[in-house]
Amino acid sequence: MSVIVGIDLGTTNSLVAFADGAGPRVLLAGGEDASALVPSVVRYEAGEAGGVRTVVGDDARERAVEFPTSTISSVKRLMGRSLAEASGELGYLSYAVVEGSHGQCRVSVPVGERTRTVSPQEVSAEILRALKARAEAALGEAVEKAVVTVPAYFDDAQRQATRDAGRLAGLEVVRIVNEPTAAALAYGLGLAADTRERTVAVYDLGGGTFDVSILRLTPANADNPTSFFEVLATAGDTRLGGDDVDNLLVDLFFREMRTQLGLQVEGVGELAPATRRALRRFAEGVKHRLSEAESASVRIEAGEGMVYERAIGREEFEGLITPWVERSLDACRRALRDAGRAMGDGHDGAGGVDAVVLVGGSTRVPLVRRRVGDLFGLEPYTALDPDRVVALGAAVQASILAGERKGALLLDVIPLSLGIETVGGAVAKLIVRNSQVPARATEMFSTSVDGQTSIKIHVLQGEREMVEDCRSLGVFDLKGLPPMPAGVPQVEVEFLVDANGVLSVRAHERRSGKRAGIQVVPNHGLTRDEVERIEAESLTHAREDMTRHRVVDLIANAALDVKWIGERLARFKSELEPAYAAELDAKLGEVRGYIDRARADWRSVDANAFAKAKDELDRASVRLQEVSIAASLRAEGTRD
Ligand code: AMP
Repeated sequence: MSVIVGIDLGTTNSLVAFADGAGPRVLLAGGEDASALVPSVVRYEAGEAGGVRTVVGDDARERAVEFPTSTISSVKRLMGRSLAEASGELGYLSYAVVEGSHGQCRVSVPVGERTRTVSPQEVSAEILRALKARAEAALGEAVEKAVVTVPAYFDDAQRQATRDAGRLAGLEVVRIVNEPTAAALAYGLGLAADTRERTVAVYDLGGGTFDVSILRLTPANADNPTSFFEVLATAGDTRLGGDDVDNLLVDLFFREMRTQLGLQVEGVGELAPATRRALRRFAEGVKHRLSEAESASVRIEAGEGMVYERAIGREEFEGLITPWVERSLDACRRALRDAGRAMGDGHDGAGGVDAVVLVGGSTRVPLVRRRVGDLFGLEPYTALDPDRVVALGAAVQASILAGERKGALLLDVIPLSLGIETVGGAVAKLIVRNSQVPARATEMFSTSVDGQTSIKIHVLQGEREMVEDCRSLGVFDLKGLPPMPAGVPQVEVEFLVDANGVLSVRAHERRSGKRAGIQVVPNHGLTRDEVERIEAESLTHAREDMTRHRVVDLIANAALDVKWIGERLARFKSELEPAYAAELDAKLGEVRGYIDRARADWRSVDANAFAKAKDELDRASVRLQEVSIAASLRAEGTRD
């Protein structure tokens, strides 16, 4: 059977993805430029011998300003539309749109001396052709079939136009899938055989448009052997997106610059186009930084020694964009009402939603995540890259159609244990395999090095004892801790796997109150075969793994003992009987020897003998402890 790829044919960017036994993945351009996104931008220009050359993607976008009338962007807004229907869009487009046969719109661009008129389908086909070529290069075989996503509100004409674009590009569009459905599929929603009826909200906030969809997942039954998503309601705003935030920041900076530097221009509109663009790019950069950091510094050199400088904090930024976020929430409320669903604060009696999926680059803004969470009363799903989630879901749908997912996992139990890395590369399991979902576990951890101000939390999946033998699911840092001695910080790590199989890991240091977290989809790319292989391997290695884990723990604990005892022995040697001090020294040397040898090769030491040496050192150090406690009491006494 030939391969089927999944394509997210977006207004601004497009992506192609593929799913096999290793799970869905976005296919990248080869070589240096390993970007996932193909800008949905096409330029026509005069080619050799009177022909026409087509430029697609990055190159077309980069030079759009240079060739405004022959560069076509946002063609998705014209797909399957008549000129009358598309009239609202025309003011935003830099190229000419004319009426074709049956009133359909066509794009008219100058190519050399002539004018070329093409249908939106033909322009989309150019983008699809670029994606097809990318997929063929990445997969090393011909690609002739695709699942293509469209907005949930696309009507029949728009869907048909999308199919036609595929055909023109030499791709059979085997299924058109709604973008929100694809996003839900990417998270594995609806893939379990026994799925209960569920409602999912998909909140999609991109650069220029906003859509929210409420979907109902109807489980398989006698009439329908597979589960399916039904769109209960959609709402949105075709002119709401991250671009608005860039504009808000541009306006803010411009107003301040004008007063501070005494500029003689009235509005942003009077600036030279290049300056305006530079200012917007700058504003977008500030916005992106504020998604990560608590504040961003702004410095613009306006020439002639004039400098505009200020810092903008998260709080000020959030104040600025609150009305913008609220506009999207109003649409969510409309969609919920239309779908007969309650808000998170649910007072109208109807059931709420069971999951919220985030799509689109602007959902990286922390305020967006928070407010969406508040509205729906749920922590939204953020585990997958919001730019890729639709393409990944299209690939999942493609793999189902290609019959690749027969070995897919059921999600009612956790197929493989979940845990975190501890000292020495060992794995502490928090949730063991075959636990029922939803599942929750917490455990306290601490540091092994003095003065650590950040702690790396590495989330792992698998049955083996060491990190290198498990699957890495993700890493995050708990930062900003005040320096404390090893063992003093109290880090509570919580694992929560919800009914859909999505894992949220949260870490909380109790003394400082610092928190951090991550969300992942642990079962992405896991097939039943793979789970069986991992289980079998863990049995084969069980004894060896346990010994290794024990040696690693011994190294960590013995190193702490050696440090403590060594320091105090040096300090109080004069107060100890020489024979006792010498005995302790010898025992310290012996344990140090074990640690060094075990660090070099864990197999080279006998774990029992190592443990015995450590125990003997501990027992022998009792007298030293007494002396050291007495000394600290004396110190307390003199202080009073
Ligand atoms: P999309 O249309 O989904 O590609 O989304 C593009 C929008 O997402 C643009 O307005 C970007 O500025 C915005 N965006 C991308 N990354 C971030 C980020 N880290 N923080 C805030 N906005 C972002």
